Amino acid sequence: MSANGDSGTAGADTAERSAFSATPLRVQVLIVAAIAVALVVPFALADAGRTGTAHQPILTALLLVLLSALNVELGRIAEGGLVDSQRPHKALSAWAFTSALLLPTPYLVPVVAISYAHARWRGLRVPLWKWVGSAAYLVIAGFVAGVFAAFVMGDETNFVHGNGFSGTVAVVLAAVAFLAVETGLFHLSAYLNHAGDEEWLRRTLRSRSFYTTEASVLLLGGLFAAIWTGGPWFVLLVIPVYGLAQRAALHDSLREQAEVDDKTGLLRFESWRRLAVLGRERCIARRQPWSIAFVDLDYFKRYNDAWGHLVGDEALVVVADTLRSQVRADDLIARFGGEEFCVFLPATPYDEASAVAERLRRAIAEAVMPTSGERVTVSVGVAGVTQHELGVELAETMTQADQALFEAKALGRDRVSARSYVAPPDAPDRVEAVWVSAT
Ligand code: GH3
Ligand code: MG
Ligand code: MG
Repeated sequence: MSANGDSGTAGADTAERSAFSATPLRVQVLIVAAIAVALVVPFALADAGRTGTAHQPILTALLLVLLSALNVELGRIAEGGLVDSQRPHKALSAWAFTSALLLPTPYLVPVVAISYAHARWRGLRVPLWKWVGSAAYLVIAGFVAGVFAAFVMGDETNFVHGNGFSGTVAVVLAAVAFLAVETGLFHLSAYLNHAGDEEWLRRTLRSRSFYTTEASVLLLGGLFAAIWTGGPWFVLLVIPVYGLAQRAALHDSLREQAEVDDKTGLLRFESWRRLAVLGRERCIARRQPWSIAFVDLDYFKRYNDAWGHLVGDEALVVVADTLRSQVRADDLIARFGGEEFCVFLPATPYDEASAVAERLRRAIAEAVMPTSGERVTVSVGVAGVTQHELGVELAETMTQADQALFEAKALGRDRVSARSYVAPPDAPDRVEAVWVSAT
């Protein structure tokens, strides 16, 4: 991220602070209560959880924090350029769960606090109060899991003692309890708060993959506990295997990013759409506006008819290169199809997006095409959501950008038409249209 990314972060922090005070009182009560429970219960009721377990409790706690940090760092490396925009799931619950299995419950508090603080410092951007609240949820879920583990294991430290049966039962029961408490608390958060603020969480809690990933992450934590108590040196073998699993999990998203259009080297539309959906979620989390631009070559059929399709293709490449050179690294450009392109501009209100579009239009109009020596022009349609309409779906904004493009064409082409999203779909006349350029 560039310098303007820094100022964007500062702005997001201000928004975060006001966001907690803007939540309904019931959410504030829930969060404060969860933090209080997380800070008191693991200490006050420590006897209910595991007692005198792992032989080296401080070393074990340090190792868990270290593994969490390693996991986050591996994720940063694997995600390459997306270092400042990691997705909120970073297997943080695994370490809370392992702590619950291995250590007396008071250890949950520093293990979760330090691993959460590290993940936040290294790029996970979620409003602070949600961050602290979800750390508290993990401590509470860990406490309950610890009680279940203690119930099955009694004084036995080693999870693989005997043939490992009771250890396995303890891990599975504790994992089910952890998952139930954790998701129960997240459901409360998601549905007590305004829908617009919890769109991501609600969607996540509805998706089956959340539960399967979370369950696997917890079982991995359980496996770690078994190895640590059964034969600690085996941990050295687990770490590279874990790194491999992490890479495999990221493989899909990396492949997505690699899907580019052969002719122009820009993203293909489907990859663009998926990345733009993530970009939109990121903007919502940071309370930043975002915009979409559609760019279409003017009278390109005539150009093809006059010069042939191969020369037409050269023009498409020049336009694609010009688009790429005019936008920031965070903006996403795709070839929408044919001679049409779309751009997602995160953290950009529609008026700034229309200025960008105007710059694009001008740069393309000035470029001389190879072979033909002619110039081509484009029309651009821009639609952006304001800070008050962050929840608007990507598809809805795309439709508006498409309509804006249609208007730019109708008004004579070689121009930008921009609008900010205001209205619900049933009141299209409330859309404020702004004509930015006409040549
Ligand atoms: P308008 O200003 O209304 O957009 O006019 P237009 O001629 O650009 O629009 P129309 O949709 O009628 O035609 C689009 C043309 O784009 C038709 C096709 O020849 C050309 N085209 C689409 N994809 C490609 C491509 O991959 N290579 C080349 N050379 N031309 C393409
Ligand atoms: Mg066209
Ligand atoms: Mg077209």
